[in-house]
Amino acid sequence: MVIEVVRIGQRLVRDDRVTTHVALVSRAFGAERIFMTEINPEIKDTLGKINDTWGGSFEIEFIDSWKPIVKKKKEEGFKIVHLSMYGEKINDAQEEIRKEEKLLIVVGAEKVPREIYELADYNVGVGSQPHSEISALAILLDRIQKGQQFEKEFPNAKRKIIPTKTGKNVQVNETRD
Ligand code: SAM
Repeated sequence: MVIEVVRIGQRLVRDDRVTTHVALVSRAFGAERIFMTEINPEIKDTLGKINDTWGGSFEIEFIDSWKPIVKKKKEEGFKIVHLSMYGEKINDAQEEIRKEEKLLIVVGAEKVPREIYELADYNVGVGSQPHSEISALAILLDRIQKGQQFEKEFPNAKRKIIPTKTGKNVQVNETRD
């Protein structure tokens, strides 16, 4: 399954930490790319450094507005999953979503335009209480991949963690240092 993420809507006050965390969760939970409207080159640098150390080729693309990318992805055969507390229950939607081959997951920041509800193939609520795009995204990505995202390799890493019950075990790739 190919998974990409787009973050739409603007916060009144830009919150780079939340934006960075949305990107980090996307990468760590198996998405290939995130599109975002909050343009801060530092976020791209941060994720670039993470890729360099921990591997993989996760990409950030800055966009001027969300609509053209959502429409383009629909034309390319992506199904649009919009995360919203008003949406159908994730417990009911997850099975259908798992069958899709290409997903564009839409998360909001503060104000979400009405139109996205009509453009989405699935409007999905992770519970019907307001919480956060970071948690909603992580839970959706986990539900649709059933934990398999954590088996994925991140190629060409400088460092690789060997999971251990005690302490820290990190394998260093000498050819990459
Ligand atoms: N009041 C905003 C609205 O009505 O769109 C909520 C903004 S919330 C801080 C930011 C984003 O987190 C939402 O746009 C949505 O993508 C996600 N989110 C928050 N709670 C959610 C929930 N219970 N289920 C799914 N997504 C949720």
